[in-house]
Amino acid sequence: MTTPPAVPAALPSPPDLGGRTALVTGAAGGIGRACALRLAAAGAEVRAVDRDAAGLADLTALAAGLPGTLAPHVLDLTDLDAAEHAAEGTDILVNNAGLQLVRPIEDFPPDVFHTVLTVMLEAPFRLIRGALPHMYGQGWGRIVNISSVHGLRASPFKSAYVAAKHGLEGLSKTAALEGAPHGVTSNCVNPGYVRTPLVERQLADQAALHGIPVERVLTEVLLRDTAVKRLIEPDEVAEMVAHLCGPTASSITGTSQVLDGGWTAH
Ligand code: NAD
Repeated sequence: MTTPPAVPAALPSPPDLGGRTALVTGAAGGIGRACALRLAAAGAEVRAVDRDAAGLADLTALAAGLPGTLAPHVLDLTDLDAAEHAAEGTDILVNNAGLQLVRPIEDFPPDVFHTVLTVMLEAPFRLIRGALPHMYGQGWGRIVNISSVHGLRASPFKSAYVAAKHGLEGLSKTAALEGAPHGVTSNCVNPGYVRTPLVERQLADQAALHGIPVERVLTEVLLRDTAVKRLIEPDEVAEMVAHLCGPTASSITGTSQVLDGGWTAH
């Protein structure tokens, strides 16, 4: 008997998203960047939205030569009217932009709480609101909300993030119920810790709050409850997003697709 290879010999071929337009928020960063490139690799015309103009310029260069196209769109999502307007006419919407602050509730700055809820919950609502008329009009649409294990579980010191992600879960499920008669699916993707700048930036805060050196944060805090002891790669999340946008996913709606190395198996 032969032992199966640890890694598949060939990656699955991309779903054909030729002719589809896709908007990805937070596209200059780790997971959003991977999603934008993955959808462009599948042939989509991608609108890459972020407030980071330099990051979008790097992304645009990376996308050259892919089967689809990628158009950068510099936008701060706290401008909610502009966010809603930007989503008009898109077939696929990936709500991904996010930010994190790790502080106990009694020290958590109220203005940061407000910004986190605005970018990670109210902007997705406004983007969905902007996208739906076109999706309903053509009887097809895909909404993918990048949630987190923190949409399903809490951790200390992350009040704004956990509140926003739990709210996003509810928004996603409501969009799924309303969208189903119109051929529109809405799902969450729920990663554990992914190798991105957002995670790198919280290592020092976590070390201070837990009273341990930075080099012990990964194993003793972030991956403590995870059975698979490694960070997830952004491409793994993007692969799930592409799957949810493809032709075999039309019955998958209102779900939370967990990629967490076994964290929520506890
Ligand atoms: P990241 O910091 O690498 O990227 C986030 C992007 O969002 C950045 O490019 C940033 O410029 C953009 N952004 C932030 N605020 C914005 C605003 N007001 N307007 C426009 N753009 C804005 O983060 P990431 O790790 O790639 O996270 C992406 C998403 O994945 C987030 O929603 C995050 O909560 C979620 N997530 C991340 C992890 C992880 O471990 N990294 C795990 C689970 C879920």
